[in-house]
Amino acid sequence: MSTDAVNEVVIIGSGPAGLTAAIYSARANLNPIIVEGEPSSNSDQPGGQLMLTTEVENFPGFPEGILGPELMTRMKDQAIKFGAKFITSKVTKVKLTDKIKRIWLSDENETELLAHSVIISTGAKSIMLNVENESRLLGYGVSTCATCDGFFFRNKNIAVVGGGDSALEEAIFLTKFADKVTIIHRRDAFRASKIMQQRALSNEKIDVLWNTEIRAFNGENSLNSVTLFNNLLNKEYEFDLDGAFVAIGHSPNTEIFQNQVLMDENGYIITNNGTKTNLEGVFACGDVQDHMYKQAITAAGSGCAAAIDTEKWLNNNIS
Ligand code: NAP
Repeated sequence: MSTDAVNEVVIIGSGPAGLTAAIYSARANLNPIIVEGEPSSNSDQPGGQLMLTTEVENFPGFPEGILGPELMTRMKDQAIKFGAKFITSKVTKVKLTDKIKRIWLSDENETELLAHSVIISTGAKSIMLNVENESRLLGYGVSTCATCDGFFFRNKNIAVVGGGDSALEEAIFLTKFADKVTIIHRRDAFRASKIMQQRALSNEKIDVLWNTEIRAFNGENSLNSVTLFNNLLNKEYEFDLDGAFVAIGHSPNTEIFQNQVLMDENGYIITNNGTKTNLEGVFACGDVQDHMYKQAITAAGSGCAAAIDTEKWLNNNIS
């Protein structure tokens, strides 16, 4: 089913980037439509990755901290107040290479939206281990963000899973809070850059369990141990832990944009000159184009930039 009206801007994704773009473009009278996603346990649900966190203590303006889901609800309310319209649906397909962009939704009518411009803010998801109790204990001892949650593990027994730059960077960061950080890595060598390896391995607070995989996270209300498997000795055992940071990589939610929007080798959308993509009238903001900072505040900032870039582009190109 196609709605004939051509919208000025359709925003795909409703994390901090998409919602900030919605607030700014609504205040600029662009009548934005936000396709917010569908409720699920993944980071591609309405509100994005912050819906999976508990307390957010580093978003400016909230000295007492704020719960991730509450922050996202407030941003959405602010966008609605200025006239943004939300559609609770997923995007299944896009055609962004033409002058009028077409966006198909996952509803039963397969609604097709038309737009002069599109802001992509579909975010990224942490790659997870997919082992027992991982999703249940996410936010209760299992985390995917040391910057967000490290503070809660002061003087606790914590581990980081992975052997890439992210894992080593998180482990080094976490030594600020913990007396000991154990890196759990499935092989006998790190993939991370040499300099990060040197830093991690020379840090007295960091221990490494090589050739070790996590088989399960254990705990009723919060994490208290993990079941480990040493794949060299073929041995399974329990290991006490208060916190485990899964840092085995991120993957941007860009599948539906492939072969249209230019991406780097890891699937992140390439932006130039602000938030412009390779396609006229298509902009990207937040984690979908940022593998460096990955913070709610940086995503919100780039959402603001995308709305401003879109407004300028519409003024210059659509009469
Ligand atoms: P990555 O380089 O892909 O490393 C992922 C790590 O997780 C690897 O050690 C991998 O093990 C492990 N892993 C993957 N799947 C696993 C599984 N199912 N179970 C257990 N372990 C698993 O990802 P990243 O560390 O997030 O880095 C992504 C990119 O960003 C890289 O290019 C990196 O250099 C860059 N980065 C740079 C910086 C920096 O320069 N400061 C910081 C962060 C990231 P194997 O080694 O056995 O495959």
